[in-house]
Formats: sequence, C-alpha cells, structure tokens
Amino acid sequence: TVVGVPREIKDQEGRVALQPDGVEELIHHGHEVVVQRGAGAGSGFSDEEYARAGARVAKAAEEVFERADLIVKVKEPIEEEYGLFREGQRLFTYLHLAADRRLTEFLIERKIDAVAYETVELEDGTLPLLTPMSEVAGRMSVQAAAHCLESPQGGAGLLLGGVPGTPAAKVTIIGGGVVGTEAAKIAVGMRAIVRVLDINPKRLAYLSDIFGGRVDLVIPNRARLASYVKESDVVIGAVLVPGARAPKLVTREMVKSMRDGSVIVDVAIDQGGCVETARPTTHSDPTYVEEGVIHYCVANIPGAVARTSTLALTSATLPYLIKLADKGIEGAAREDEALAKGIATLHGNLTSEPVAEAHKLPHTPLHQVL
Ligand code: NAD
Repeated sequence: TVVGVPREIKDQEGRVALQPDGVEELIHHGHEVVVQRGAGAGSGFSDEEYARAGARVAKAAEEVFERADLIVKVKEPIEEEYGLFREGQRLFTYLHLAADRRLTEFLIERKIDAVAYETVELEDGTLPLLTPMSEVAGRMSVQAAAHCLESPQGGAGLLLGGVPGTPAAKVTIIGGGVVGTEAAKIAVGMRAIVRVLDINPKRLAYLSDIFGGRVDLVIPNRARLASYVKESDVVIGAVLVPGARAPKLVTREMVKSMRDGSVIVDVAIDQGGCVETARPTTHSDPTYVEEGVIHYCVANIPGAVARTSTLALTSATLPYLIKLADKGIEGAAREDEALAKGIATLHGNLTSEPVAEAHKLPHTPLHQVL
C-alpha cells in the first residue's frame, strides 16, 4: 500500500497525521509512504527527518493524492481538497460528518472509503482516537487558567497553588470524564484546592480511587453548583452528553457571583459550552471578560501544543493505520470491531447510521457491504 500524508491546510492546524518513526514502521511492514513537503513543520518535524525515515517527500498535495492508495490526515477534507481525491481511495482522519452534509455526499459520490478517527470505538464504549485530544485539552485547561489568573492578564493576581502561608486558589471542574480527570491531575499537581462535580457516581468512585482524598468529589445539583461556582477562582467546564449539545449548567447569575478576575475555561465549548456566558474563541484572541470574569473558550485547545498533540494522536492512530495498510479496509474491519465502527463510507455506501440519520440519507449497514 502507498500511504499519503498531505500537509494540513485548515486554518491554524499545526498537527500532522504521521511522524517520521511511523514512516519507518509502515516501511517495515512493506508499504511506501509519500509525505507532502512541509507537512510536519507545524509539529517540529522536518522534511529531512521524513526522508531519512524512508518517505518520499512530494512537492505538492497533487502528487501525494495521485500516488497514494490510503490518505491519512488530521482534519476533515475542506472543499479545496475535494478535487484531489481519486475514486476508490481510502481515507483515515477526523471527519465529523454529522456536521458536514457536503463532505458526506462527496465521500459517497467519489466512492471514498473513509474511516473516521472519532467513531473508532472499543468494546467498553471508549473512543481511543478522541481520548488523546481530550487529555491534551484537559491538561492545557489548567495551564491556561493559571496564566489568566495573573495580574497582567487582567486576572485576580493569584498563584494557583499559592505558597506556604497563603491560601491556594479554588478550582471547580464540572464533568469528571477524560478532560476533567486530566485537568484535576494538573490542578492537584500545581497544589490548587480541587473539586470535581460529576453526575455519574461510578466516575466519582474511580476518581476517588486515583486521587485518594486529594480531590473533593461531588454529585452536583443546581444549589450546590451555584455555591461552588461562587467561591471558585477557576471553573473548568468539561461535561459531555454524547451526541448532544452541552447542557448550560453555569448560569449568568452564577458567573456574576464570582469574584472579579476569576477565570472560566469552558472546554466543552466545541459542543456549545456548559456556561451561559461562554462563546467560542481562537488561539489568536483566546479570552474575553464578561461579568468581571475572564473567559477562555478556545474550541481547538490542542492546536496550541501541536507537537504534543501530534505525538499523542499519532501514537494512538498508528496501530490502526498499519492494520488498514496491511489488510485493506475490509480485512481490517473483519478483524477489528473497534475499527469497523469507524467506517463511515464504503464503496459509495453510507455505512454510518448516525450520519445517515443526521442528513436523512439512505443508510447501508456495514455487514451488507463487507
Ligand atoms: P467524557 O465523556 O470523558 O466526560 C464527560 C463527563 O461529563 C462524564 O463523566 C459525564 O458523566 C459528565 N457529565 C455529563 N453531564 C453532566 C452534568 N450535567 N453535570 C456534571 N457532569 C456531567 O468527555 P471528555 O472527553 O472529557 O470531553 C468533555 C468535553 O470537552 C466535550 O464537550 C468535548 O467535546 C470537549 N473537548 C473540547 C476540546 C477543546 O479543544 N475545546 C478538546 C477535547 C474535548
């Protein structure tokens, strides 16, 4: 199989879908790799490193798409890239098709066999190719909050962990899933006073085991949430209701009750946000102030640490990529149920049921195509 790695052209995207040691691995498996010039630059990987690993470095995206049987990317193709695809090509990337009817129709019409990172699902319901980015966002959220609390940023002038003899800042994390857990680890490490709220008692039991009493764990209701938000220096929104917009848990009134210069990081902003006063921001202008509180609501937090994000993402995707290259989509799907769940389109059929439902398009179950 010839595996192609185009340079990501979506605005501010510094990640790359394959790192040089992944190239070596694929070549070891008997495949060829074509990498577009500059593809790794945003993550600190030079063309020379890819060439040394054995990749062919292509001058332009056209050459990558022309040679490759299997395209591996980070972000979903944008319209400028549609014309580059060949019929029957395989594609492995984040797709988010339920939000993109044009792309869904394109993949069906052009008969692209597409596997979406975000829907690869293990038996226990976890999403192994989405988790690494949540881990990055969770850890980053506390780093961002600590920065925003500094006086020059307009913050309350608090050091998150304080020093001996001063009180530490209070951090309330709403949602104790992947994002919330990683946020709590960093906040604890920085010696803040940390509280995690989650409606799932099993999740709290798990957190209780890993934090051993170092984190306050609470099942929230409106009154409790209001009193915790009021006394917090930092609130981190990290809830997820699968397949739905985030519930607006923190009201404007609650935000108003916080001290001036406090900080809200709404990580759930990519699902609409769980704070009434939150609206999406970008890395070039990440914060704004409302009700005296600094809001950091960047929708693609991992983008700020492209190299770490690339390393985390490619470590998770590489085993699946190798399987796809070795066995083809059908062979890989028969062997690996998690990967089979990621298949969105196959031979011009829409095999993803939720995507078909979202766009009212005809759905063909995967087993009928395999
Ligand atoms: P997850 O499913 O692992 O965790 C979500 C948690 O929220 C679960 O434990 C669930 O029980 C809890 N929850 C649901 N409703 C709740 C409620 N009403 N009150 C309290 N807790 C509640 O999800 P995750 O991977 O941690 O992702 C969290 C959010 O972060 C998602 O919206 C995700 O899209 C977002 N995210 C954003 C970025 C970014 O760059 N902004 C990056 C990664 C993830």
